[in-house]
Amino acid sequence: MTSQLGTGARPLRVAIVGAGPSGFYAAGALLQQKDYHVSIDIFDRLPTPYGLVRYGVAPDHQKIKSVIKVYERTMADSRVRYFGNVDLGSDITQPELKQHYDQIIYAVGALSDRRLDIPGEDLPGSFSATEFVAWYNGHPDFVDYEVDLSVESAVVVGVGNVAMDVTRILAKSVDELSKTDIADHALEKLAHSNIKHIHIIARRGPVQAKFTNPEIKELGELEVADVIVKPEDLVLDAASEAELAADRTTQRNMETLREFAERGVTGKPRQIHFHFLRSPVEICGDGQVTSVRMEKNLLVAKEDNYIACEGIGEFDDLPAGLVFRAIGYRSVPIPGVPFYDRWGLIPNQGGRVTATHKGETVPGEYVVGWAKRGPTGIIGTNKPDAVETVNLMLEDVPNLTPVADANPSAVVQLLQSRNVDYINFIDWQFLDQVEVKRGAPQGRPRVKITDVDEMLDLVRSKQGEE
Ligand code: NAP
Repeated sequence: MTSQLGTGARPLRVAIVGAGPSGFYAAGALLQQKDYHVSIDIFDRLPTPYGLVRYGVAPDHQKIKSVIKVYERTMADSRVRYFGNVDLGSDITQPELKQHYDQIIYAVGALSDRRLDIPGEDLPGSFSATEFVAWYNGHPDFVDYEVDLSVESAVVVGVGNVAMDVTRILAKSVDELSKTDIADHALEKLAHSNIKHIHIIARRGPVQAKFTNPEIKELGELEVADVIVKPEDLVLDAASEAELAADRTTQRNMETLREFAERGVTGKPRQIHFHFLRSPVEICGDGQVTSVRMEKNLLVAKEDNYIACEGIGEFDDLPAGLVFRAIGYRSVPIPGVPFYDRWGLIPNQGGRVTATHKGETVPGEYVVGWAKRGPTGIIGTNKPDAVETVNLMLEDVPNLTPVADANPSAVVQLLQSRNVDYINFIDWQFLDQVEVKRGAPQGRPRVKITDVDEMLDLVRSKQGEE
């Protein structure tokens, strides 16, 4: 006789693909519910867990990273196992996951970036913020990234929080950066940076900027950089005035920008220049970025209260040797999993994966986080997002066909039969301690290990000693 799904004898087997914040919040929500016994395996392509908290959150924002404590509590639960360094597609396939797990959650985030689709975007010296952020955060895939910081002027396109992060990292002194867990290779390179001017290009006005108040305020507190905002850029049209009146965050942002405009230049060696109502229309250069051509914009209020921008046919050129596009992230397709290319995410209804945009649901497959809703919100936004998905998963349990091979050891055997060098959570905790120990003498939170082979060698030598 087969046991009922979700009981102690036959727990609900769930695979979570991706050990970032959304995956951990989904695991946490599954552990908290009382209706079913669960057994959860979390997989990550990298040996290291925590996804964007480790490789996206800026190294000078350590407080945000303390959220890891919550994820550690989730991992400490005996119902959860961690399989790091396991790539979905090459080490284990999606059909294999479907053989061993009653439900699968894709928590794969948004690994790629949106494009401007303008001439010159792929010239050497033009980068996505995704690459730069991953590089300075020590993501193993970006260790060999080459960015030439001998130039004097860089352009950052976009005015979201990622643009603020990139700007701050370019603008900070080596003293400021050396207290953080920024990757050693980035610290070394930024220590010799020649950048004096960082130009931030916003296609709309200051009221429409997407940054949040702590992030814009921080620019005004940098040791070696002044922020330059032109007072005339803060003169608002009627639609922007109305938008401003309705939103407290925007009001605080405007107060900060006004303070910057009043303060002006104080003589610090670096300068951050804001350019509002400008769209990049071409990245210019002969074999290397030398300037960015911008078109002036006008704001146009649309019927749905959205304030759009339109070019007015007037152009100016901004000399720059580097361009960072910080205009949003995009998910990348996973083999065998539906993907809605237009929005760059896994199509879904509230977290239930659908075969196409607005199509039929795919039984047993779910999505959370940026792969579900697009690249918006702060880390905490992923908690209610994951709870929504998990609630639907629980609703679906009575209609599920339990998988035949639910034995937790089957997945281990499969990975071992392929010689997949996976690591478990205890292995990760060991690596974590190594990093923290390396950071202590330098007064840093940790020194990140950026090479996967070094991580695996360290883990294996620890196991050899046991
Ligand atoms: P974002 O907040 O969506 O900002 C994207 C920016 O790019 C906007 O200013 C947008 O302008 C602009 N943009 C988009 N397409 C453009 C184009 N074709 N030409 C010119 N500009 C264009 O995205 P993000 O900065 O990547 O951040 C992603 C999410 O992570 C956000 O929710 C953010 O708050 C969060 N995050 C939070 C923190 C933190 O809490 N400290 C740090 C980093 C990221 P329009 O408004 O005109 O579209």
